[in-house]
Amino acid sequence: NADVAMYYAKDKGRNNYQFFSSEMNARAQERLSVENYLRLALRRGELVVHYQPRMKVATGELAGVEALIRWQHPRRGLLPPNRFIEVAEESGLIVPIGEWVIENACKQVRQWQLAAKKDLQLSVNVSIGQVIDGDRLFAAVQRALALSGIDPATLELELTESLLMQNIDEKVALLNRLGKLGVGLAIDDFGTGYSSLSYLKALPVDSIKIDSSFVRDIHADPNDEAIIRAILAMAHSMGLRVVAEGVETPEQLAALRELGCDEYQGFLTSAALPAEEFEQRYVK
Ligand code: C2E
Ligand code: MG
Ligand code: MG
Ligand code: MG
Repeated sequence: NADVAMYYAKDKGRNNYQFFSSEMNARAQERLSVENYLRLALRRGELVVHYQPRMKVATGELAGVEALIRWQHPRRGLLPPNRFIEVAEESGLIVPIGEWVIENACKQVRQWQLAAKKDLQLSVNVSIGQVIDGDRLFAAVQRALALSGIDPATLELELTESLLMQNIDEKVALLNRLGKLGVGLAIDDFGTGYSSLSYLKALPVDSIKIDSSFVRDIHADPNDEAIIRAILAMAHSMGLRVVAEGVETPEQLAALRELGCDEYQGFLTSAALPAEEFEQRYVK
């Protein structure tokens, strides 16, 4: 890895060489080694999907699951996405990894739907690298639907606002194609991006996930409550479903119920679980 890092440094020209400090070198090496191991991890089957239940606020019923990737590292243990998603993005590995997640999660949820004889929804996160090659994402979704036999309407893709705002026209075209397949679209981390709300009109959005930062103090901070109330009013008048993220306490849930929020996810009910555990608790 050191050799590769040096090669890149030299490649930038003699004058730049001196600026390639040892600190940068260490960081580049770290990055390259994460990338190489991540590539192997995908091949060796070390990536796993965990499932977090999403509940209906009014009834407490299970509404669906969100697929959340983890890396079962042989030495470092179970790694959350923030330890490797960025490298996956920058290296382009997010494309095959994302395809693997969609296919895997669709197959798993189809099994659960059959076993539970229930209409369980599935949400899958999609990141920028996957959306840039729209044709490939579209093909991957079609393939996952066909291989799993899942009803397209039970799959929802989660995208963030900032991701949607770049080259919005291309996004609209891709998301309309996916929408025609029957696949849903959710705006993730809603409220955290610097975006105009006009994309809500332009895109075939089905639901909004209010970022956990607004939920945390909802029962204590009148401003957070006002923001959530406003999001709910707007979303509901547009016919969108609203999900609150990061619900950890009964007080937060009570406040959301009072405000008329549709669904929630959070540690109050459960963190994301390995497939077997999810199955034991929610399917069998
Ligand atoms: P996200 O899609 O906004 O997912 C919500 C995150 O909040 C998850 O973290 C979840 O485990 C965590 N969470 C859920 N309930 C609570 C709670 O009550 N309290 C707190 N503090 N946290 C809670 P996780 O699994 O670490 O995922 C982080 C992010 O990584 C996700 O944010 C998503 O943007 C990305 N990600 C996860 N899986 C995938 C994937 O398969 N593909 C892509 N492209 N991105 C993924
Ligand atoms: Mg999400
Ligand atoms: Mg989120
Ligand atoms: Mg996120």
